[in-house]
Amino acid sequence: MENKKKLVILSGAGISAESGIKTFRDTGGLWENYDIHEVATFEAWQKNPKLVLDFYNARRHQVVAAEPNLAHHSLVALEKSFDVHIITQNIDDLHERAGSSNVLHLHGEILKSRSISNDSVTFPVDEDLYVGQLAPDGQQLRPHIVWFGEAVPAMDEAISIVRDCDILIIIGTSLNVYPAAGLAYACGEFTNKFIVDPSTVPLHEKGFIHYQGSAAKEVPTLVNYLLQNKA
Ligand code: NAD
Repeated sequence: MENKKKLVILSGAGISAESGIKTFRDTGGLWENYDIHEVATFEAWQKNPKLVLDFYNARRHQVVAAEPNLAHHSLVALEKSFDVHIITQNIDDLHERAGSSNVLHLHGEILKSRSISNDSVTFPVDEDLYVGQLAPDGQQLRPHIVWFGEAVPAMDEAISIVRDCDILIIIGTSLNVYPAAGLAYACGEFTNKFIVDPSTVPLHEKGFIHYQGSAAKEVPTLVNYLLQNKA
């Protein structure tokens, strides 16, 4: 059997921007209208669970209405030639809907819920979550989201995926949110590294080749290059 090179993609909110899902920190980004301390922390949940549920219910509506864009779609073709692992900070399911088969969600998934006292069992969410809605263990259901200040349970697995990869592609992340941002520096010395982002990202000195532009335009270009060069 062909020994495929290991290719890891670390994606952030920017890859879904052209699907109509707002990014996090850009001007006009989602969080300009919300205080993260009011909606995306465990303290916020304790203070006002209805506000938190309403916020994530709205996010879920937005994700369900969105479609994968050319960036999500073009990544799928890499699976023919590479051992592809996608690690995403996104809570949407656009990689999966495009057809990617190996996706690890670092910060949870908006289409799932879980009990407030058990983070290892998740349930699909078909309709809005509400205060008083209980998991089978009798505890309130919460969105299956890693809030700011909470541990990232998938982080160890993500580090071990990145550590021995041959190719690392970072797409649409400001690398401001830790510990996820640390993955950009977790690969080996000889990994081929690429970053796709319209903004200037301070990774040139780390040996990253920058495809500067939007994901829907630049990811297909990079994918074609990789498929032709297997590099
Ligand atoms: P961020 O908003 O901090 O950074 C977004 C990055 O995307 C920026 O570097 C920006 O220049 C770039 N960008 C903007 N438009 C782009 C485009 N069209 N193509 C490519 N890149 C583009 O987002 P982050 O670094 O992912 O961190 C935000 C956190 O918020 C994450 O933890 C994530 O879980 C969450 N979040 C998720 C979603 C989602 O699931 N789609 C959306 C917003 C926020």
